[in-house]
Amino acid sequence: LALTGCSNDREGGSGDSGSGSGDAKGFAKDALIGVALPSKTSENWVLAGDLFTNGLKTAGFQSDVQYAGASTTVADQQAQITAMVTKGAKVIVIGATDAAQLTTQVDAAHAAGAKVIAYDRLIKNTANVDYYIAFDNFKVGQLQGQALLDGMKAKKPTGPWTIELFSGSPDDNNAGVFFDGAMDVLKPAIDKGDVIVGSGQKDVKQTAIQGWKAEGAQSRMDSLLNSTYTSGKTLDGVLSPNDTLARAIITSVKAAGKPIPVVTGQDSEVESVKSIMAGEQYSTINKDTRNLVSETIKMVQSLQTGAAPQTNNDTYNNGAKVVPAYLLNPVIVTKANAAEAYANDPKLSALTK
Ligand code: BGC
Repeated sequence: LALTGCSNDREGGSGDSGSGSGDAKGFAKDALIGVALPSKTSENWVLAGDLFTNGLKTAGFQSDVQYAGASTTVADQQAQITAMVTKGAKVIVIGATDAAQLTTQVDAAHAAGAKVIAYDRLIKNTANVDYYIAFDNFKVGQLQGQALLDGMKAKKPTGPWTIELFSGSPDDNNAGVFFDGAMDVLKPAIDKGDVIVGSGQKDVKQTAIQGWKAEGAQSRMDSLLNSTYTSGKTLDGVLSPNDTLARAIITSVKAAGKPIPVVTGQDSEVESVKSIMAGEQYSTINKDTRNLVSETIKMVQSLQTGAAPQTNNDTYNNGAKVVPAYLLNPVIVTKANAAEAYANDPKLSALTK
């Protein structure tokens, strides 16, 4: 797995780090575990909250699962974490709403003796994040970049192909890693001239969609269509970092009366899987939230006994330290492999029949 060319939030090189540092003491079997999730910007967060509530209960823990609200997300999440610390949570699992705005709260959790697990999104600039658990974000981006190329070639065998690039919210560390992974695959084709970014907007800053909001993606796509694709120029593909944005991009293209380009995605949201089966959205990524949550609960159980949770990656530098990480493997899904990819997921599998 090539890990070069990544942002400095993620060091180059790969390797098994074995296990992180454990806490010989552990804590009570029915301790309180806090789970602070961001606002519900995609279905996976909604699912994660339910799975944590049920899974932690089954494992014998008490739980406090909270979401940041829709608008004052950062302040909400900061207050929720502080409350968890006050209530004596032994582990706080955090899906950060803003990677760089939780230093005070994470440091306070550490001072109170709680372990902190960054869930899905890295928390930056504090040495008091104990573990990181996520799907391999750089690989997600690489799979998206490759799907975009494959999808365009399948539709139009010879290039050059014209594309537009979208990236996620700048306050989410994942957004840059997804983009870097995708550019790892796309940049050589862009440099050769096989792939052309029609608007010329290739920078992560120009392509970012604040808050991962569908409205933001739709209006940026509207402007791109007006600025660059009015004179009959065709748009062959769009790199979209997730499903919510992919559907907004497709809505914009349809409203403009243009043919739907190859559009990537991520999260295997119900409406996107339907769209893929209908031949509209081209691809998504399966990051099975059930596995991510159950692996996180396993980490909590290790910490409870005083053992070091298993980790398999040491490439996530959060600016204060390399956070020992456990990464799961994401899977690309197109119409061609959807039935197979979702075979063990009754809800999604039903959509592929
Ligand atoms: C997650 C994605 C999700 C996005 C928006 C990211 O941090 O990794 O799965 O699409 O947030 O919610």
